[in-house]
Parts: sequence; structure tokens; C-alpha cells
Amino acid sequence: RADVIDGEAVAAQVRETVAGAVERLEAEGVTPGLATVLMSDDPASETYVRMKQRDCADVGIESRHVELDTDAPQSELFETIDDLNDDPAIDGILIQRPLTESVDEPTALRRVDPEKDVDGFHPENVGRLVTGDPRFVPCTPLGIQRLLVEAGVEIPGSDVVVVGRSELVGKPLANLLLNRGDGADATVTVCHSKTDDLAAHTSRADVVVVAAGVPELVTGEMLSAGSTVIDVGINAVGEGDDRELIGDVEYESASQVADAITPVPGGVGPMTRAMLLENTVQAAARRAGVELETE
Ligand code: NAD
Repeated sequence: RADVIDGEAVAAQVRETVAGAVERLEAEGVTPGLATVLMSDDPASETYVRMKQRDCADVGIESRHVELDTDAPQSELFETIDDLNDDPAIDGILIQRPLTESVDEPTALRRVDPEKDVDGFHPENVGRLVTGDPRFVPCTPLGIQRLLVEAGVEIPGSDVVVVGRSELVGKPLANLLLNRGDGADATVTVCHSKTDDLAAHTSRADVVVVAAGVPELVTGEMLSAGSTVIDVGINAVGEGDDRELIGDVEYESASQVADAITPVPGGVGPMTRAMLLENTVQAAARRAGVELETE
């Protein structure tokens, strides 16, 4: 049976390292600051933002929250972003998505100063990742890479199949693992909704990462013995007391075949949250010209 890759435990290590970095920055007179911007009535987004603020407080990062009415003009959001860009106390800006429909989301994301773009969504940061000179990498792919490294998975030279080609997870992860260097140098295949025969790809992979948003899409039969499986999916199924979160991988069958697997919840989710903190201290250190020890 597969080993369980404990995302909570690795995320706790990351938070500890981040807390140490915050202390070093404080000694230089720098308090890292993260701004969260919410312009949506989506209750899940409100929860996510609150969680991010709590995570910041736990490691000593100051957080500031700006909430805009969903019927406010788009210009108000743009002015908020401009103010945060200019604010020396703010090192990272996180625009919680999805934004309300009346807002042009790509334009809003492009307005964030790339030096403060701790989500890594600005085209400049996307371009840097693709050209092999990453600055801010989106938190979920970054967390997945860290989890693989910490779990001792040999990535260089391995066949990695990424299921999903979103701008948020699939594409940046594929680029990250394709780049040169430690925890990378993989042979990456990206599958998506138009892929002809998904199982033909997943069944020959050393590492399968599934970010499709389809409950239990990948089953044990589609995997090869000894593989590592990273389940990014978070799908709420059932109603009332039966409501639960399941992944994009059928956990039971997959864990009979794979060597190691992430659970849902408790795998990629906590890593995503932790990497936002890491990106924020990196942003603060860079802006202040303070060298943080790299791991
Ligand atoms: P998305 O909907 O933007 O993209 C899904 C991708 O999966 C698409 O590229 C699509 O082509 C592909 N796909 C859909 N059906 C497929 C199929 N049958 N076969 C192969 N490919 C298929 O989703 P996303 O934002 O990348 O998120 C994916 C999942 O990961 C969701 O469940 C989301 O909730 C979850 N997620 C989790 C975290 C985390 O921190 N754990 C972070 C981001 C997203």
C-alpha cells in the first residue's frame, strides 16, 4: 500500500522556516506585509481570505484586508491596486479570485506590481517562469514541487504526467518541472480534456499530478506500480452530514498501486497556503535588499 505524503507536516516545516525568515527581517527593521483584496460575494472566497490572514498572523507577517462592494466601479479596484503598489508597508498583493463578473480580471491581475505579485499571475512572472528565470511561481505548483522534493521523489529524468492545463496549476507546474535544476529536469507530458487516451499516459508515468477538477478521474488501473500520485483536486460531494471533500484521484484503488500518494484533504492544500507565506517573505526580503539563506 502506498505511503501517504503528509502535506500538513511539510507545510508546518515551511511555516517554521518562514517564521525564522520573518525574525531575520524584523532584525533588519522590516515587517513583511501582505494585502488581500476581495471583490466578490462568494462565501468560499471569504473563507480563503480569512485563512490566509490567519496563516500570516501565525508566522508574523502583517496582513491588511481590503474589501470592495461587488457593485463598485472597476476603477475603484484599480485605484486600490495602485495604492497597494505604492504602499511601502505592503510587500505582497493577493487579489482573491474569482472577482465579481463586472470586473475585467486579466486587466486587474496585470495591474499588480510584478515585484509584489506573490500569486505569480502577472504575465511578467509567468514569462519569467517559462523562460527559466522564475521570480514568483504560483503557490500550488510551487507547493507540489516542494512536496515531491521533501517526499524524496527523484524528479530529474523522471516521466511526469500532469493532468490539467489551467493557468493556475497545470501549465505553471509543467513549466516548473521542465526547467533545469534541482527538483526539476523532468520529462513532462501535459494531458487535458481533449487528450485522446488519458490512461495511456498516466499508466507509464513515474509521477502523476492530477488537477482536473473531476472527482476520482484517475483510478488505480490507470497507474503503474511504484508511481507517485499528487492529487490536487478538491471536490465537495454529498449533502448535509454526508458532505465530504474528495480528490481527482480514486484514493482507494490508487493507493493499492502507487508507491506514494497525497491525501485530500491534507496533501496539496496546506502546501498552497504555506507557499504564499514563503513568496511573501521572499518579496519582502527582495524589496528590502536583505539576503535570506536559501535552503
Ligand atoms: P480548471 O477547471 O481551471 O482546469 C481543469 C483542467 O483539467 C483543464 O485544463 C481541463 O482541460 C482538464 N480536464 C478536465 N476534465 C478532464 C478530463 N476528463 N481528462 C483530462 N483532463 C481534464 O481547474 P484548476 O484551477 O486547475 O483546478 C483543478 C482542481 O484542483 C480543482 O478541483 C480545484 O478545486 C483544485 N485546486 C486545488 C488547489 C489546492 O491548493 N489544493 C489549488 C488550486 C486548485
